[in-house]
Amino acid sequence: MKKIPSLFVLSTLLSSPLYAQPAKPITLGTGSETGLYYVTGNAICQLVNRTDNLPDCKALASDASVDNLNAIANGQIELGIVQSDWQYNAYNGVGSFADKKNDKLRAVFSIYPEPFTIIARDDANIKTFEDLKGKRFNIGVDGSGTQATANVLLNAKGWTAADFKVLDKLPPAEMVKALCNNGLDAASYNVGHPNTALKEATESCDLHLVPITGEVVDKLIQAHSYYAKATIPAKTYNGTDQAVDSFGVYATLVTSADVSEERVYDVVKSVFDNFERFKKSHPAFANLKESEMIKNALSAPLHEGAIKYYKERGWL
Ligand code: GLU
Repeated sequence: MKKIPSLFVLSTLLSSPLYAQPAKPITLGTGSETGLYYVTGNAICQLVNRTDNLPDCKALASDASVDNLNAIANGQIELGIVQSDWQYNAYNGVGSFADKKNDKLRAVFSIYPEPFTIIARDDANIKTFEDLKGKRFNIGVDGSGTQATANVLLNAKGWTAADFKVLDKLPPAEMVKALCNNGLDAASYNVGHPNTALKEATESCDLHLVPITGEVVDKLIQAHSYYAKATIPAKTYNGTDQAVDSFGVYATLVTSADVSEERVYDVVKSVFDNFERFKKSHPAFANLKESEMIKNALSAPLHEGAIKYYKERGWL
């Protein structure tokens, strides 16, 4: 009998479906487990994971927007959820991205609005944005879009750390605890609503939302197309019975031109082929419209995998 070379046997075995290597998982950077990015990323990955023959999709906790943009640029993750203002800044090399412009950043779709939110203790005497001066204020953890946008707002106002009694950088879970334990007077959180952590905090201690309006905000909106007026609906949280005016951005899904057409296509197809299911996974998704998601609040070019799917559906 003719002898079969053992290497041949091995390679035939390994390439047979029974021994096929599982595809590398798709990685999607989200935010803190307390936020809505984490919920959104998990909802997206669940849709990928319930589709046969696709690579596994993993939604990873992170410090959110800026952290995700850095991790995409470094090739540590393939997709990430980021605020539309920081998508713009990273692609164009503006603001804190001046020395790390990412030409390869690609948009996939936008999701829901994120009004810039300030929440304060009722006993801290904070009714307007101006009243934050001299208080114990949390601007958000390093790497978050919350902190990055809060810094833009404080700079526009001409405020520095010296204008506060304390300027803290706690992550969201610690921030809500500190608000209720009287470790903070107020905190910012650039998040979609309703947010579970804010709901729980406003039900366990006396807090209210603070409007963010006035000349400084109007000028920011005029100067930057990614900002718009935004309102947090009345009674979204205990203690705030009126609608609260603010300004805001969008949560968006982005990736890199280095990620293959097929992998991004698989994610996009999983979401939009199952769009009704996706919309039911959180109240903030209930009114989403495909036609708006594929064009609003996107400043980086669309990824080729997204374009392929949108063309197939006749949307482009
Ligand atoms: N927009 C926030 C940020 O980038 C994250 C919000 C969330 O986790 O839902 O910091």
